[in-house]
Amino acid sequence: MNGKQLCIHGHFYQPPREDPWMDTILPEGSAAPATHWNERICEESYAPLAWARRLDGQGRIIEIMNCFEYMSFNFGPTLLTWMERKAPDVYARVLEGDRASLARLGHGNAIAQIYHHIIMPLATDLEKRAEIAWALADFESRFKRPAEGLWLSEAAVDMRTLDLLAQAGVRFTILAPRQAREVADVGQLNWTQAHEGNLNIREPYLVELPEGRSIAVYFYDGPLSQAVAFEGLLRHGDAFWGRLSGMAGQGLLALATDGETYGHHFRFGEMALAFALSQARAGVEGVELTNYAAYLAENPPKRRARIHENSSWSCAHGVERWRSDCGCATEHKPGWNQRWRGPLRDGLNAVKTRIDNHFMHLGAQLFRSPEEALIAYGRVLSGLDTDKEFSTAQLRPDLSPDQQHTAWKLLTMQKWALSSFASCAWFFDDLGRIEPLNALTFALRAMQLGRRTGLDDLEPLLLSYIGQASSNDPALGDGLDLWNHEVRHRRETTETILAQALIRLWAEGRLPLPGGSAEVPWPGLSVQVRVSGEDDQGHSTGTACITWTRESGTDEHDWTWELPNGGDPFAGCIRVGDTGTKCVPAAYIPWGKRQALALAWVRRVEAETWQRQVEESRLGAHLFLPFREAQHTQTGDECWDRLWSPLTWQWIMGEVTASRDFLGFLLERGREHPERHLLARRVGHALVDLLGRPKPDCQLVRRLLERAASVGLEPDLRKAQNLYWTRLRANASALEAGLALGFAPE
Ligand SMILES: [Zn+2]
Repeated sequence: MNGKQLCIHGHFYQPPREDPWMDTILPEGSAAPATHWNERICEESYAPLAWARRLDGQGRIIEIMNCFEYMSFNFGPTLLTWMERKAPDVYARVLEGDRASLARLGHGNAIAQIYHHIIMPLATDLEKRAEIAWALADFESRFKRPAEGLWLSEAAVDMRTLDLLAQAGVRFTILAPRQAREVADVGQLNWTQAHEGNLNIREPYLVELPEGRSIAVYFYDGPLSQAVAFEGLLRHGDAFWGRLSGMAGQGLLALATDGETYGHHFRFGEMALAFALSQARAGVEGVELTNYAAYLAENPPKRRARIHENSSWSCAHGVERWRSDCGCATEHKPGWNQRWRGPLRDGLNAVKTRIDNHFMHLGAQLFRSPEEALIAYGRVLSGLDTDKEFSTAQLRPDLSPDQQHTAWKLLTMQKWALSSFASCAWFFDDLGRIEPLNALTFALRAMQLGRRTGLDDLEPLLLSYIGQASSNDPALGDGLDLWNHEVRHRRETTETILAQALIRLWAEGRLPLPGGSAEVPWPGLSVQVRVSGEDDQGHSTGTACITWTRESGTDEHDWTWELPNGGDPFAGCIRVGDTGTKCVPAAYIPWGKRQALALAWVRRVEAETWQRQVEESRLGAHLFLPFREAQHTQTGDECWDRLWSPLTWQWIMGEVTASRDFLGFLLERGREHPERHLLARRVGHALVDLLGRPKPDCQLVRRLLERAASVGLEPDLRKAQNLYWTRLRANASALEAGLALGFAPE
């Protein structure tokens, strides 16, 4: 390393938003038309960073860069869990970025992050140990190596957390410059108060810990990070690069921001980043790209630092933002306050204390050591250990099956209880937001598991605190109102689970006939539905088995499904057990879950409708007769216009020959046709299918694109371009397809 060292870090994180029963993320209305915010931000930021375009002067692609290969980054474990399931192509690029940087620098770009993004100084010792252990297990399972660094949620830090990190083998973390309290040279006692003048943020510092341990701390460049995050420095790639190369010099220039800054907060920010990274990669102006771990290996700290205990990067008052009305807010609306933060923190703490006592007390009979079992549970969640390996190592021998079920339930209870402390619940301005309500929902689930394992009902305890908190929106009321209207009814019961299983089978068009059965899987549970027939009033009847993931054991139930005339499933109700029990309306299912069912229905019906339209309009091009003299549009053009989408599809896919008048009609009607964007996406998917084949027909790809251009349709090419870049560009016979997809000639 001889050049000017540069490290750009992105902290990529989304709050846990899983439904704690289904363990799946439900639709969030504010993210529409995307299903929820993970999906939306993945489209706007994570995917663009994984495939960042670099263009030539004519707008042709010269490179698709994987920014994760050249930037330092951390992803929250709960976000990566979702990404692995739902955006596996982006996930693969994240892993690949780390592998490539490891090969290039000897140290990978990825660092770990506190598992549930909790505020560590506010956590108990056991919570701290669990959050670190789970984070490191998750990291190792994904990146196939131990983490060298770890990102502290909100950079919130205390000495105990640093010591636990060091004990776990973590070598460094990253803080804001104002978290430094005093500095001195290594081996000297010349401690002086830290300030801008004597804090050299270009070098790592050593923080000394008990029993001779230590950890390195980097302080990122505050003003530069601020300029990237909030002052629009990403608007122009060359301006961004100019600032970076102008500032790089002695030591390490490091900036750290939320990763979502690139692409989500600033559209096309990933292109500015890719430009700067490509300049540094080429060594322009003597700049070299590195990461924190690689720099540390070559530059051991020469100076020591003491930190401000209980400080963070996003609250000037320490860590008050996550427990009091300290004045920190995102919007500062007149007349608003954040006094709700105290009762929310105290209420969740009170519940957690009871849950911990229950876990320790009952767990003492089930685990060899409850503490160690909780720490080791992260290895099960990450897949490093199988359930069986965990049981052998952690459960007491000779437990009955019931006792084993209880042990697993206790661990699930702790998982959701920890989720309720994700920092975002307190970060924003109001109790009525989605984040605090989700935190309460996680607590609800943990309390439910507590009850199922013999703990008292903790709801009155939680409500005695939450009742003291109020939303700033009078329409939402106080904590009790929010609990009653928004949280309590999210609790799943046998009735609501079976109602969702039946409605989903109906929505997906796979409700079995009498005598048949079908499975409805969610990550957190699955339901095996068996239909037996009809009762004397004509209602469907059957049985169902509910199996909870990792809680073992199944519950079997009889059910009757009462649907009104017309068949609206949300107007129906479900009866579980014998006919004496009450019929629970499907309307009780919370909005997010009903929206998920509605989405399953609309996706299936739309796909079937499209298939039918394509099939039925197959001969349209032949029946679209050429115009007679002085004819300007087609006879009955409104009817033809309704079929624009399937007719255009057939032309582009090469399934028809067509007259000039037909193509002119498609071109003219397509300019502002409401189905234009949907069709552009369909053609994009078709191209991905073609390019993904073992031996893609690149001539066909070129012809499809030419036919699309002939009727003025611009297919959505992003994914096809990504696929070409990663799989085909080295293949000379694919060159023509590359040019057609918008790549510059080599
Ligand atoms: Zn504050």
